[in-house]
Amino acid sequence: MAFELPDLPYAHDALASKGMSAETLEYHHDLHHNAYVTNGNKAIAGTEWEGKSLEEIIKGTYDPKAVAQNGIFNNISQLWNHNQFWEMMSPEDSKMPGGLEKALVESFGSVDKFKEDFSAAGAGQFGSGWAWLVKDTDGGLKITKTENGVNPLCFGQTALLGCDVWEHSYYIDFRNKRPAYLTNFLDNLVNWENVAGRM
Ligand code: FE
Repeated sequence: MAFELPDLPYAHDALASKGMSAETLEYHHDLHHNAYVTNGNKAIAGTEWEGKSLEEIIKGTYDPKAVAQNGIFNNISQLWNHNQFWEMMSPEDSKMPGGLEKALVESFGSVDKFKEDFSAAGAGQFGSGWAWLVKDTDGGLKITKTENGVNPLCFGQTALLGCDVWEHSYYIDFRNKRPAYLTNFLDNLVNWENVAGRM
């Protein structure tokens, strides 16, 4: 069965008052995410990866030694990344669950320091990519950044929070101000219950 574009878990204009416009979501979900679905399905058709799960394809096609990943990896990983990304935001005001707050304080010193380090990772990713909060293979929390479609699954980590720092994610609402987009994402958009649920 071919992969399908999941519906957004909220209306296109649901995040507008929180800094992510309907226009951004129309481009980002309906066009960009959809293109990863269409091109991913085309790329795996007739290959050994047809019929496999997104996770299996991502882990099986990631090449740590490659200068650039191949089309199957790029499209399928971006399909998965965006599936997670929409779920990691909420139109409701989200209160951080106590267990997550405790884990962030233990790992980074304070919630503010976590936000500062996460924003710095996203702002410091040269070109397209993602900033992540991951549960690492040793069980500890860690902030990472990845290029293009590369994601924590490639390294055996669990993705707790991811922020898309491709220009298509912020250029309509924040123009070239990626740090302002990251600050707004952390302060207003993150669904902390979803993040805590991934631990
Ligand atoms: Fe994106």
